Amino acid sequence: MSTLTQTVRHNEEHTAHACRFCGSTLLRTFVDLGMSPLCETYPAAADFRKGEMYYPLHVYTCGHCFLVQLAEYEKAENIFSDYPYFSSYSDSWLRHSEQYCASMQERFALSKDSFVVEVASNDGYLLQYFVRLQVPVLGVEPAANVAKVAEEKGIPTLVRFFGAQVAQQLVADRGCADLLLGNNVLAQVPDLNDFVEGLRILLKPNGVLTLEFPHLLRLIEANEFDTIYHEHFSYFSLLTTVRVLSAHGLRVFDVEELSTHGGSLRVYACRAENTSHKTQPSVARLIETERAAGLASLGGYKRFAEQVKETKFAFVEFLLSAVRQGKKIAGYGAPGKSATLLHYCGIGKDLIEYTVDRSPFKQGRFLPGTHIPIYHPDRIRETKPDYVVILPWNLKDEIMAQLQFVREWGGRFVVPIPKVEVS
Ligand SMILES: [Zn+2]
Repeated sequence: MSTLTQTVRHNEEHTAHACRFCGSTLLRTFVDLGMSPLCETYPAAADFRKGEMYYPLHVYTCGHCFLVQLAEYEKAENIFSDYPYFSSYSDSWLRHSEQYCASMQERFALSKDSFVVEVASNDGYLLQYFVRLQVPVLGVEPAANVAKVAEEKGIPTLVRFFGAQVAQQLVADRGCADLLLGNNVLAQVPDLNDFVEGLRILLKPNGVLTLEFPHLLRLIEANEFDTIYHEHFSYFSLLTTVRVLSAHGLRVFDVEELSTHGGSLRVYACRAENTSHKTQPSVARLIETERAAGLASLGGYKRFAEQVKETKFAFVEFLLSAVRQGKKIAGYGAPGKSATLLHYCGIGKDLIEYTVDRSPFKQGRFLPGTHIPIYHPDRIRETKPDYVVILPWNLKDEIMAQLQFVREWGGRFVVPIPKVEVS
């Protein structure tokens, strides 16, 4: 072995991380998106002089269990304890949640004698619909400022990070849950095994667990690299989900593919010993689709990095050429995912002058790192940009409908992902 090889090996071993599910050493890159600041911190002008921390967005595929994951560089407590994301601000997400509650009440016969617990319940955006249906609920939410909004709406909320210990305490205080749900939280859990163990503990022997999370297969196929950010530690296929849940005595008995967040899964699970829920053909069918896409071996994970690079080049080329022609470009939205897109592509306010957002918590602040200012949506009507880049592209239909007025001055919409599209 040459000295150089020895040095390289030494460094790899020194910096290697362990898989957060199975503990194997992570050596295979899924994609390396460079350095990025924490995406849900929106600095005010007074914060600029403090500087910002950047962390690597280097995603690995576990060679043993195929869990795609980021290492934890920042403690979850620091990310989520004062979290500015309020789910209630998206109309389509509210409709989605209302439909979910109605359909769960019908399918699992929930009543005033049932107990529904939502983990990461945010501002009560979902549980409010169970309250209307007179089903008793409890939210568990780590961000105190967000939980306070839920309490004000009449949704009892426990301010804690969920895990096995909190689950045991809840069982002792309140009993087990008939329906336990976690939407867009599984990806954000640093200690995956402790979290899933907590789910099993809190679930009634005949209860149902539902989890919604972005589907890794869709992320790969639709090139959704900007959904990779520090708050999302893990990226799940159904194959991996089944493996993780089953390691904790939970059996997946049904799965639905949803269009939310660029393509998500809703997984239904129960305790492994519960025979009242027959495993539906949907589970084997989707696992077969994932196998066919190569997700049961390393092959299916390899092409992603290259397609991401191509998207970056095309997007930057479009913006540069538009700016050189004297066009004005604004953004719409300040979602977490915009930080990844803008940093990986090296885009600042010289290319996108400003963005707007409906959330009053973000207005008057700036996107992290790039310091692109965030205004009230009226700014678009006032400044009449030639192009509006829709940063939360998963809501593009809703946003384009709201912003039809930009057509009055010949304005056009730009969606960067899966590939640059101007309409
Ligand atoms: Zn693993």
